[in-house]
Amino acid sequence: MGIIKKDPYIQPLSKDWYSNSISEVAMLRLDIVHDVISGNKWYKLKENISHCIRKGKDTILTFGGGYSNHLVATAAAAQNFGIKSIGLVRGEYEYSTPTLDACLAYGMQLHFLSREEYSQKNDMHWLESVKQKFGDPYIVPEGGANAEGVLGAQSIAEYIPDNHYTHIAVSVGTGTTLAGIVNGTSSDVIGFAPMKGGAYLNEEVRTWVDKDRHSMYRIVDDWHFGGFGKWKPPLLDFMNEFYTINSVCLDMVYTGKMMYGVNEMIASGKFSPKDRLLCIHTGGLQGNITIADKLICA
Ligand SMILES: *Cc1c(COP(=O)(O)O)cnc(C)c1O
Repeated sequence: MGIIKKDPYIQPLSKDWYSNSISEVAMLRLDIVHDVISGNKWYKLKENISHCIRKGKDTILTFGGGYSNHLVATAAAAQNFGIKSIGLVRGEYEYSTPTLDACLAYGMQLHFLSREEYSQKNDMHWLESVKQKFGDPYIVPEGGANAEGVLGAQSIAEYIPDNHYTHIAVSVGTGTTLAGIVNGTSSDVIGFAPMKGGAYLNEEVRTWVDKDRHSMYRIVDDWHFGGFGKWKPPLLDFMNEFYTINSVCLDMVYTGKMMYGVNEMIASGKFSPKDRLLCIHTGGLQGNITIADKLICA
């Protein structure tokens, strides 16, 4: 079962970019697997979709904001497998967004919830009422953050050679992808949270990480640039420079902030000259649409 149009590969990053303070920096290009079901999103969805099919359900329901990569990936993946999809959207929108337009184009039915109602998205009783209302769909939490999501994300490790990289860098929204990678590899995993105060995720993901691996990851939140989805000119300058040097387009919500952080960690001597770092490109390039005029690659 798959939607992968192009297999992910590991791309070495230009040595100019990190000088001699670390032995090697490379990037696992998950962004190229599919135009819409991009990066980590397919991996988090695939076990959910097969579970949905096994349960004999014809509809998948999930949650997201107006720019959610997960929402549009779910819409496209569901359509691909002939499953109906419903998206419950956070907040009411006076205008649609390009992401929501794409969801509709993939046949997703959208329902808008007030922020207050949306905040109940993980409450069991409230979810029971959602089930009743929408005819018992297969429910995937926001961001694909469930055990199936973690299991699917673990298969990303198949693209990573054993015992080569000392460290892996990955961007963290819910931490589902990070947990899967920690469970599937033997490297130290550094998670970069793109929101203020994201270090709380260290606790959140613990339940998903195998017990003997709790010391193998840490989540840092120093590079949020004002908060989730926010940016400042130095971030975009960095992303443009990164593209010029490596021909890799980063997204401004997740991977741009991660690579900015990686760059600062390298520059401030946080790695040893023997370390080998693999950065995961988790995709999300559709999120650049609102700032396309400021990026050379979008
Ligand atoms: C969704 C997303 C993430 C976060 O993934 P989680 O599994 O929720 O931590 C990271 N990077 C990109 C580009 C994303 O779209």
